[in-house]
Amino acid sequence: MGSKNAATGESALADRLKALPKTETHLHIEGALPYELLRELDPDRFPENPPFRQPGYRFENFVEFETLLVDHAVAWYTSPERYHQACKRVFQGLVEQNVRYLETSIHLAIIEFTGSDGHELVHAVKSAAPDELEVRVIGALTRDGYTEVMAPIIDSLHTWDELDGIDMHGQEWLDLEDWAPPVWRRCKEAGKILKVHAGEFGGPKKIYEALDTLGAERIQHGTRAFEDPRLVERLAKEGVILDMCPISNEKLKVVDTLEKHPIREYHEAGVVCTANTDDPLCFVNTVTDEFVALVERLGFSLAEIGEIAKNGFRHARMDTAEKERCIKEIDSMLHE
Ligand SMILES: [Zn+2]
Repeated sequence: MGSKNAATGESALADRLKALPKTETHLHIEGALPYELLRELDPDRFPENPPFRQPGYRFENFVEFETLLVDHAVAWYTSPERYHQACKRVFQGLVEQNVRYLETSIHLAIIEFTGSDGHELVHAVKSAAPDELEVRVIGALTRDGYTEVMAPIIDSLHTWDELDGIDMHGQEWLDLEDWAPPVWRRCKEAGKILKVHAGEFGGPKKIYEALDTLGAERIQHGTRAFEDPRLVERLAKEGVILDMCPISNEKLKVVDTLEKHPIREYHEAGVVCTANTDDPLCFVNTVTDEFVALVERLGFSLAEIGEIAKNGFRHARMDTAEKERCIKEIDSMLHE
C-alpha cells in the first residue's frame, strides 16, 4: 500500500496523484454535499460517523442508496443560496486535489421540490467557481421526471445559455419515455454536452439506447458494456467517452470487487475512460482516491494513469491552449 505520511495519513503515491492535474466529469452536486454541512445544520439528526460513511460499507441495492441520498440532500438543498454555499466548499476540495475542470450535474427535479428557479440554480453553482477551476453545469433528468410542472421547463432546456449539458440519471431500469429523444436532439443542436447514465444497473441494451436514441456522447458509467464485445468495439471506434466511477460501482455492488472492475479492459481496448467520484457524500471518496484505486487495486501503471488524466482534458469543453498546458504538465510530472 506504500509508505504512509505520518502527518496526513496519505501515502507517497496518493500525494503524487493528488498533485497531478485532473478533471472530474461525473459528479452529482447533490451527492457531493459535504457531510460536515449537514453536521453544522443538525448534529443530532446527522451523527458524526453514520454506518454508510464507514470504511467497507456497501449498499444493498440502488434504492437503498437513492433513498439515503435523497433524505440527506433535501435536508440541505432548499434554495439557490444553499447550492452556492455547498459548491464553494466542494470546489475548494477539488482545487486542493488539483482538479482543473469539472462537469457537475444539478438534479433538476429540485426545481419542483423547492419551487426554486432553474436559471438561478445554475447561476448559484457557476458563480461559486474559484479561478483555478472551470465549471460546466449539466441538467440531470430522470426517466420518469417529465411531470406537469417540469414538462415546460424540460422542453426549454436547449434555450438556457448558461446550461452546458444534460444527463439522464436515477433508476436506469425504467423505460425511456417519448418526451426524451426530442429534448436530447434539441440540446445537441444547441451544442450542449449530451450525457446519459447507462450500463450501471442496466445491461448493454441501455447503452445502445443512450447512443442510438438519445445520441449520448458521454456515457455515465457504462460498466456493463463488457457483456457485449461488439459494443465495446463500437465505443472505442466511435470515441464514446465513459465517465467511470469504480469506487461507486464497488459500493453499489455493480461489480463484485473493484479488482474485477472492467475499466482496465476498456482502457486496453481503446475506449476513452475517465475516473470520477459520482456521489462522495455516500461513498466518502475523492478523485485522488479513484486514481489511487486504479494503481493499487487494478494495477494501472503511472503512464496509464497519465492517459486516464489526459483523457479528461482532451475531451473537456475548455480552451485548447489551457488543455494543452494541462496535458504537458501531466507528462512532465510523470517523467520526473
Ligand atoms: Zn452518477
